[in-house]
Amino acid sequence: MEGVVIRHLWKSYKDQRGQMHRGVQDIRMDWQPGEFISIIGESGSGKSTLAKLLLGLEVPDRGSIRMDGVELTALHFRGWKQQRRFLQGVFQDASGTMNPCRSIYTNIEEALVNLTGASAPQRRECLLSLMAQAGLSEKLLDVPVRQLSGGEQRRFALIKALSVRPRYLVLDEVTSGLDLVSAEAVLQLLERCRQETNCGVLWITHDRRSAEQVSDRIFQMQQGRLVLEGIHQIKTKEIVV
Ligand code: ADP
Ligand code: MG
Repeated sequence: MEGVVIRHLWKSYKDQRGQMHRGVQDIRMDWQPGEFISIIGESGSGKSTLAKLLLGLEVPDRGSIRMDGVELTALHFRGWKQQRRFLQGVFQDASGTMNPCRSIYTNIEEALVNLTGASAPQRRECLLSLMAQAGLSEKLLDVPVRQLSGGEQRRFALIKALSVRPRYLVLDEVTSGLDLVSAEAVLQLLERCRQETNCGVLWITHDRRSAEQVSDRIFQMQQGRLVLEGIHQIKTKEIVV
């Protein structure tokens, strides 16, 4: 079955004092291939918990997440390695996804070598093309990740995720704190990738305007529960290079 299908997904957290905290409750969601879904909601409402569950970074208490027929909640290390190519994620704090001491080029090369069969010239071309689209200078390629600003690191993490041509992309507050021009460049890059590769995007944001600008559907997260808020027409935005 095509798409991501989430049913009865629950997650709570226990703190050091043994007190329980609600993460998400009884989530039900269908995410079609190529669909751009936004999730908005207050801080603490459970958005990042859902992102982490989707990416296998947290284990649900119960429930099911199927991606194109594969039950993700049942996967172990080897299974995740196989599915990672198809499902990628970027978080607001992108530092965890890249080795800070190594260059951007080495970091992204590594992902391309591990997850795709692309040749060395193809890998370089893919990377340079994505960088140009994201408004990032080629000069940054050999700079160690730790020397880049938080916003640059996040855009590179996004490029790393896009470079393996995933079928689904989970993005948690990736434009928070970016200036407007950079945020717009990120949205245009996503729209272009969606048109070229039919990549589905789950866009988690507190910025309702960006959600309305790009989404097919908008969900609202409220106290761990997900509520459909609106359906937008698929927009074909004019992309300016
Ligand atoms: P959002 O991303 O919408 O701000 P989160 O998913 O980060 O919300 O958090 C949802 C709830 O789960 C919050 O009440 C938060 O305190 C709690 N939570 C998230 N992660 C943990 C954790 N590791 N330990 C304890 N509680 C957590
Ligand atoms: Mg969050």
